[in-house]
Amino acid sequence: MKRMVILGAGESGVGAAILAKVKGYEVFVSDMGEIKPHYAALLEQHSIPYESGKHTAELILNADEVVKSPGIPDTAPMVKALIEQGTPIISEIEFAARYTQAKMICITGSNGKTTTTSLIYDMLRRAGLDVGLAGNIGNSLALQVAQQDRQYYVIELSSFQLDNMYDFRANIAILLNITPDHLDRYNYEFQNYINAKMRITRNQRREDAFIYWSGDPVIDKEIKKLRPTATLYPFGEGKAAAVGNETADAAGCERKMNVAFVDGRNMVVQAFELMELPVELLSLKGKHNQYNSMAAAITAQLLNIKNDVIRECLTTFEGVEHRLQYVATIRGVRWINDSKATNVNSCWYALEAMTTPTVLILGGKDKGNDYSEIDELVKEKCHTLVFMGLHNEKLVEHFEKLKIKNSELKIIDTHTLADAVRACYEAAQPGDTVLLSPCCASFDLFKSYEDRGEQFMQAVRNL
Ligand code: ADP
Repeated sequence: MKRMVILGAGESGVGAAILAKVKGYEVFVSDMGEIKPHYAALLEQHSIPYESGKHTAELILNADEVVKSPGIPDTAPMVKALIEQGTPIISEIEFAARYTQAKMICITGSNGKTTTTSLIYDMLRRAGLDVGLAGNIGNSLALQVAQQDRQYYVIELSSFQLDNMYDFRANIAILLNITPDHLDRYNYEFQNYINAKMRITRNQRREDAFIYWSGDPVIDKEIKKLRPTATLYPFGEGKAAAVGNETADAAGCERKMNVAFVDGRNMVVQAFELMELPVELLSLKGKHNQYNSMAAAITAQLLNIKNDVIRECLTTFEGVEHRLQYVATIRGVRWINDSKATNVNSCWYALEAMTTPTVLILGGKDKGNDYSEIDELVKEKCHTLVFMGLHNEKLVEHFEKLKIKNSELKIIDTHTLADAVRACYEAAQPGDTVLLSPCCASFDLFKSYEDRGEQFMQAVRNL
C-alpha cells in the first residue's frame, strides 16, 4: 500500500486526504497549525490519522508521495527535507485530476481570477452543464472527485498551486494578466513567478484552448518564447480582426476566435457565431471587468453554450463579494465595497470604473505602496479622500501634496471604520459614489479583507 502524506489540513488538504483514502492509500495528515474543528471531524469520520500543531519527521519522511497545501513555502524545513530526499510533492489539484475524466477549465492571473472563475461557473451552471467550482474558491476538487464527480470543473489556480502541478492538463486555460506579486515566494525574481503562471499551458494539446489577454506585454513575450501547443484565443482591445493575429502567428498556432471592443463601445465576441454586446450592458463595471467578461465569453462559446445564455449572464451576473460590490443607495449616494482591492493596481481599476463624483476610502496596512499610480484618477474623479487606518501618515503625506495641485480635494483623516463611514456620509452629495477601495491590506483594524468588507457594509446599512 502506498503511503500518502498530506501537509496542511485546510479545504484542499482534507479533500486530498479523503480522496487518497477512497483510492486505497495509507494516509497521514500533518498540520503545523491548529486544525479547525470542522476539518478534524471530517478526518475522524473517515478514520484518517492526523496530527495538529506539529510535523513529526518519522511520520512524514516515509511518504511515497506528498500533497502540500499551496500556503506552505518550499523553504519550510519539512518540505526542504522531502525535496532533498527526492519525495515527489504535488498539489491537491494535480492529485485529484488523476481520478477524473472531467473537462478542466482553469483560470489564473495576478488579478481577476475569482471574478472570472465565478462568472464562468455561473455561465456553465445556467447552461445546465454538470459543473463543479474548485481551486482557490469553492470546494476542494479532490473532495468533489471523491464524492460527487462532475463532467466539468471550473478551477481558480494560484501560482502556488501551479508550482506543484506536473502531469495536469487544462482543456481550457485562461491567463488574465501577469504583474509582480508574491515575489517573496519566488526568490524576488519576477521571472520565477511568470514561469509559475505559464505552467497553466503545460501538457495542453492542439485541441485544447489557451485564452489570454493580448494587451499584456509579459504574456506576449512568453508566448513567443514558449510557443504553446494549444490553440490560442487572445482577447483584448482593438479591431476584432486584428487582435492577437501577430502573437498567434508568431507562435505558429491557429487562431479561431478573438474578442474586441469596437469603436471603444461595443464588445464583440467573434466566434463560430458573432455576438455583439454594448459595454454599457455588462453587469460588471470597469475596464478590467470587460476583460474578465471577454475571457468568460470565449470560454462559454468554446463549450458551445448559446449566445443567449452568455448574454444573459454577462448582463445579470451579480459579481463577487467585496469586489466593486454594490451595498446600498442612501439619500441618493451609492455605496460600493471593493475591500478586496488590497493593492494600488486594483484601486486604479476601481476608480477607472467610477462614473460619478467619488468619495474614496483609502488606508490600512501599507505594503510599500506607490500611490502616485492613482494620482490622475483621484484628481479626475474624487472630491474627497477619507483615510481609514491605524497609521495614515504615508497617505497624508502623499495626498497633501496632490491637494496643493488640486485645491478642491478634501482630505479627512480617521482611525476607525465608524468615523470613516460617518465622514463619507457627511462629505457625499446626492449623485455621488462612496467607494471603499483601500489599496492596503486590512490587518491593522480588521481580521481580513472579508471582515473589513462585512463591517463596512453593516455600518452603511445602519446609516
Ligand atoms: P484575484 O482572485 O485574482 O485576486 P479578484 O477577482 O478577486 O482577483 O479581483 C481582485 C481585485 O482586482 C478587484 O477588486 C479588482 O479591482 C481587480 N481586478 C479584477 N479583475 C482584474 C483584471 N482583469 N485586471 C486587473 N485588475 C483586476
